[in-house]
Amino acid sequence: MDGNDAAAAPAVFVITGPSGVGKGTLIRALRERHPELGLSISATTRTPREGEHDGVEYHFLSDEEFNSRVADGDFVEHAAYSGHQYGTLRSELEKNANAGGVVLEIELQGARLIRAAMPEALQIFIAPPSAETLRERLVGRGTDSAEDIERRLKVAEEELAARGEFTHVVVNDQIARAVDELEAIVQSRRQQAP
Ligand code: ADP
Ligand code: 5GP
Repeated sequence: MDGNDAAAAPAVFVITGPSGVGKGTLIRALRERHPELGLSISATTRTPREGEHDGVEYHFLSDEEFNSRVADGDFVEHAAYSGHQYGTLRSELEKNANAGGVVLEIELQGARLIRAAMPEALQIFIAPPSAETLRERLVGRGTDSAEDIERRLKVAEEELAARGEFTHVVVNDQIARAVDELEAIVQSRRQQAP
């Protein structure tokens, strides 16, 4: 890759943080304000929730399909989370090559892998105002079983301990305020871009 190719690549924004903190909610609101921002649709082996469709929220793959695509080198990063596999497909970054930036909504291990593979990517950690709000939001969302909520909260302890790794931390207290902060971070990176 020469300097011109690097200049042409869209900025990559990695949004991470524990399940239920509001990553999806904030990204939706950010992209309503900035429709030019592309979204990487991840692949996963978990089953679709009610209302989710293949190719929209995720590319839903069987374990065999996922493993075969790992072997083919199709992923930029992939990780196991709460008993399932999740990963960012290279094709999703390529698809967004002409977008005004591309957003990756991924968990902590994936964010660390992207940090190593793409140090130029901007990483933002979304934190809850308190540990209790995570449980309230996961329960309130109504999409996960009690068992899965407990699993996600257990992983969240490790994820919350990692917030110090991130230059940018946005506390999702009030949605509108948190989106303002997220937008300011994204805009400031885009203004720096060549
Ligand atoms: P994540 O994508 O991080 O797993 P979601 O975006 O699905 O989280 O949000 C989890 C739940 O919390 C949803 O029901 C969402 O409506 C709610 N939520 C998100 N942000 C806030 C907020 N700032 N205040 C109150 N509820 C919120
Ligand atoms: P959920 O099952 O709630 O949709 O997602 C569970 C977790 O997997 C979330 O923290 C979400 O950010 C993360 N995730 C979604 N897509 C990817 C991905 O492509 N790679 C990684 N590493 N994590 C992902």
